[in-house]
Amino acid sequence: MSGFDKALKSVVKINCNIEVLTGLHIGGSKDNIEIGGIDNIVIKLHFYNGHRDVPYIPGSSLKGKMRALLEWVEKPMDNSSKVIALAKNGKPCDCGKCNVCRLFGAHQSKNAVEPVRLRVDDFCPTEDTINTWTNVLEGLYTEIKTENIIDRIKGTAEHPRHTERVIPGSVFEGSISIRIYEGDTFENTVGVVLKSLEMIEDDYLGGSGSRGYGRVRFDKKSFVLKKYTPNLEEISFEKVEDLKGKF
Ligand SMILES: [Zn+2]
Repeated sequence: MSGFDKALKSVVKINCNIEVLTGLHIGGSKDNIEIGGIDNIVIKLHFYNGHRDVPYIPGSSLKGKMRALLEWVEKPMDNSSKVIALAKNGKPCDCGKCNVCRLFGAHQSKNAVEPVRLRVDDFCPTEDTINTWTNVLEGLYTEIKTENIIDRIKGTAEHPRHTERVIPGSVFEGSISIRIYEGDTFENTVGVVLKSLEMIEDDYLGGSGSRGYGRVRFDKKSFVLKKYTPNLEEISFEKVEDLKGKF
């Protein structure tokens, strides 16, 4: 961490909703809660807003997916700032120079020379969503999907597996914050984050995306710019274009 001497100018907070378009499965651990006969359960908060065992989207899951997708388009560099191979051995980028490292930090901080700029909250279901779950699902806040392997000769379904999923139409709310230091531009901070959200919309969240799970949409509600000036000015924008003009 030697040599980083840029001042923290502001923090940009993107408040957004994640709308689930197809069954979402973000895996939890089995000892979390035991439900008879389910092979893959979803991760849940034990208590949330007076409710018990509530599915949510951990900030770590969202952040990990943002990073993994971005590394396919942002270019990692070597010591002489030459672009090197993408997705090295399937490991996260640790070059310390690319836009991914600028936002997320260099992996395992071997080459970390800058502070991590990105914070991703846990995304929790809206009260409306919890009401919907209560009304349409029986006792649980999720659906159970059964999948089989088809016997190639007999044509019959075998080895059924039961996977717990969050139902389409569910909405999770939360925010993503980006610290803006002297010299940072819209393009190499907020712009990169927005690109990663768009890439997730083209891909998926959670497991089994190649089988149709986890399609989501990000509904950006507002962009809040908090300036670390002596009077801590805070401005809220509906459109990202308006925020762009303030950089
Ligand atoms: Zn990098």
